[in-house]
Amino acid sequence: MFTLLKGASVYAPDFLGKKDILFCFDKIAAVKTSIEPCNLDDVEVIDCSRKIVLPGFIDLHVHIAGGGGEGGFSTRTPSAKAADILKTGVTTVVGVLGADGVTRNVAGLYAKAKQLEAEGLSTYMYTGSYQVPVVTLTGSIQSDMVFVDKIIGVGELCLEDHRAFYPTFDEIVRIAAQTRNGALISGKAGLVHFHMGTGEPGLEYLFRLINESLIPASHFLPTHVNRTGMLFEQACSYLQKGGYIDLTAGFIPSKEDPDCIASYDALKKLVDIGADISRVTMSSDAYGSAPVFDSQGNVISSDTVTTKILFDELSIAVKEKGIPLETALLLITKNAAKVLKLEKNKGTIEAGKDADCVICDIDLNIETVFAKGTKYSYLV
Ligand code: ZN
Repeated sequence: MFTLLKGASVYAPDFLGKKDILFCFDKIAAVKTSIEPCNLDDVEVIDCSRKIVLPGFIDLHVHIAGGGGEGGFSTRTPSAKAADILKTGVTTVVGVLGADGVTRNVAGLYAKAKQLEAEGLSTYMYTGSYQVPVVTLTGSIQSDMVFVDKIIGVGELCLEDHRAFYPTFDEIVRIAAQTRNGALISGKAGLVHFHMGTGEPGLEYLFRLINESLIPASHFLPTHVNRTGMLFEQACSYLQKGGYIDLTAGFIPSKEDPDCIASYDALKKLVDIGADISRVTMSSDAYGSAPVFDSQGNVISSDTVTTKILFDELSIAVKEKGIPLETALLLITKNAAKVLKLEKNKGTIEAGKDADCVICDIDLNIETVFAKGTKYSYLV
């Protein structure tokens, strides 16, 4: 019934110093300098005096039902298991379809999100896929958002990529307007989540959306913006103009892909230029494929990652790039909760929020994860 974390160094994500954290069932009941368990029945006390406690991570771009397939059926990626996600510290995911909106669909994504929820994760999803017009579950973007609790927006709509459906700007504005309308009626975020490819116009549509439409910038979240140097430069000025951006983990410059920017280098640059980090998030793109194409558009290799990459790369930002832990964490906790409009229950360690917490040793190795108060231990 009760769990008491004693004497933890708490990053909520703001650094709170040494605190005790009390969980009651699936909620955080109190965060105080000292909480004594003497009057509580049925309480598990965990000594955290040499531990760091963080909010459960939010990964807002996970191909939970699998993805890929751009190199034929043999390149399809398998779907996610809750246990594999939880052990990486991720307690909330937003499921996304990708290039294949034919053999995978919104109904299947919904079922997968429900399965992962039953297995302990908090799950949400986007309706649609790369495809435009958007293929929905109930017939329209608005009704998907109003009637399907898990659907918090549309995505990932594919722009500036040879896999895109080449929507016109007017089509994008209409999708955004439908999403905005659904958001107003349902009280949800109404996020339009854009997959950005390597095409030269880059974020042009995004700049036009915030300049020419009346829809608030908080509805638009382009991802993979560290995929090329040019795109990242644009992302920096888009951020400066009030936009929101999502970095993708796993872009490591290589012979095949020399122009991408690793998430930790991108974050370092943003901090160095004094960017407003509160509008930056980071996601893993896990369980999707990361196909590499030759100049003729043929797949020459394909890889997949898990959600582990998210905290692995943020740990590099902290340990090797000198980013404060409380700053790095923002991207996958408080900021993600804000952009997804989940702040009531997610994103910070505070009384009243869901009991989603990650216990690490002082080297940031994950030892125990709590997801809605249920304990998952990875101590060896
Ligand atoms: Zn994508």
